[in-house]
Amino acid sequence: MVLEENLLKRLIQQVESSGIQISEEQTEKFTAYYELLEEHRKKANLTAITGIDQVRDELFLRSLGVAAALNQAERNRSLGTQSGLIDVGTGAGFPGLPLAIVFPIKRVTLLDSTQKKTRFLNLVVKTLKLDQVEVINDRAEVLAHSNEHRESYDLVVSRAVASLPELAELTLPFCKIGGMSVALKGSDVRQESLSAATATGQVGASTAQLRSVAIGARAELDTAVVWRKVFPTPTQFPRRNGIPHKRPLGVSMPSNPKVGV
Ligand code: SAH
Repeated sequence: MVLEENLLKRLIQQVESSGIQISEEQTEKFTAYYELLEEHRKKANLTAITGIDQVRDELFLRSLGVAAALNQAERNRSLGTQSGLIDVGTGAGFPGLPLAIVFPIKRVTLLDSTQKKTRFLNLVVKTLKLDQVEVINDRAEVLAHSNEHRESYDLVVSRAVASLPELAELTLPFCKIGGMSVALKGSDVRQESLSAATATGQVGASTAQLRSVAIGARAELDTAVVWRKVFPTPTQFPRRNGIPHKRPLGVSMPSNPKVGV
């Protein structure tokens, strides 16, 4: 426990240059989260990443990259005491849960369609006493049509869930007008983002801004794909389960795009 906390302290140093502060109490929460991840990793099929150094750098630090990609005004609006955030396809909680540990976000929703993962997340949320976090087991295609969630969030985040045309349809319906959807991707996304331009326009957002995420000392930079919601999403979106994947908007010949980061 003490060793893990010491190793996690390096997380604090790495994020400071991005203007992100992590307290002792938050470090303890990351430690407890790490231990639960290791304990349940295999049986809940959570992640291939293991060991404190890897988990810190590949999961915790990269998740906080969402915040590093935002300017101060955007952080105030998206990660503050009045903000709502939803993580679509959160898996074992990335990037939504590290953001919920560090920032005073009023309402955080972690959405995943796999029950093993949401069961794990409920355990984490309870153990870490993150009362502001709600875990929902559902598909984005369904939840985005409920009044409680549609156009209700200042920030929608996602990582390693789908290609950008599909993600536009799955994430932007959750976004308030004036809010943002931020997809964390690897370094090479220019082409993929061009292929999402039609989808983005159809579901109510501006064209993507690509921002390199400078956080920590990783050699390869992630890219934050940032969409701003400018008009309401027409009610037919998102389409039924699986259709955004099978027939991505604006893509005539869907290839088999990488969804990894
Ligand atoms: N964001 C996490 C998990 C990525 S794996 C990370 O970066 O580690 C992708 C996750 O998205 C899986 O857990 C899968 O269950 C979930 N998912 C895929 N399509 C979904 C959909 N349409 N609605 C909700 N969850 C979905």
